[in-house]
Amino acid sequence: MSVPAAEITNSAALSAAAFICGTVSASFFTCIGSRIAAGKDWIRGRSTCDACGHVLSVRDLIPVLSYIFNRGKCRWCGARIPVICIVSELCLGFYFVLAVVRFGLGIEAFRCMGLSGILLGLSVVDLACYVIPDGFIAAGIIFWALTIPFYGSFWMEEGVQGLCGGVLVSGIMLGVSLLFDRLTGKESLGGGDIKLFFMTGLFLKPVRAAAALLLSCLIGLCSAVILKKRKIPFGPSISIAACLSMLYGSLMAQWYLNLFF
Ligand SMILES: [Zn+2]
Repeated sequence: MSVPAAEITNSAALSAAAFICGTVSASFFTCIGSRIAAGKDWIRGRSTCDACGHVLSVRDLIPVLSYIFNRGKCRWCGARIPVICIVSELCLGFYFVLAVVRFGLGIEAFRCMGLSGILLGLSVVDLACYVIPDGFIAAGIIFWALTIPFYGSFWMEEGVQGLCGGVLVSGIMLGVSLLFDRLTGKESLGGGDIKLFFMTGLFLKPVRAAAALLLSCLIGLCSAVILKKRKIPFGPSISIAACLSMLYGSLMAQWYLNLFF
């Protein structure tokens, strides 16, 4: 079976556009996250170099390309630009491509894109300060609610299933953390993590939310072992798990259930 050349050109153009949108989104949300982490005004003010304070121009702010052309350094003082900048831009670029490949151009891909940006922003703050700001949780909940009408006649089903997903995973994690805290006398999960489980559960609905819950624990555990740390921020693990489950959560849940039945 041959695929028409026009179709290949169209899908390549769509993937390229998705990749560029992903890198721009990553640049935007990393900037917001790092400004909040540094206690700066995240709405007003121009982007500056963290080391010398020089105001950055458009030439310094093109996602991926600026980092490559400036060899990962500030043009003015030569200070190294954090690697997380280009890593997050490339990751979100590829994630946007995966979203349109998996779902095509539609509401599901749009949800993946919006949610992944919000999750990147809050992960940047959590990595720096061990805090998940309520603003990101609220932004996620509002974004979820605004996308519900796009499901047309299924909007009610979508809304109810989303609420079930959110309540289910946040309820489970709240119960587990309360039990764990009682047994060990230490705080295991922060309130921000529980709220994050609720917010991502809205998008994932029960089955994919359960897959994300297991995956986030696995990622958190592996990260702690690899980094040899007793305490790590859990937000990034929950975020990565939620992003993967948005795309492949149903397949992961199916695979997991097949192990037992
Ligand atoms: Zn500089």
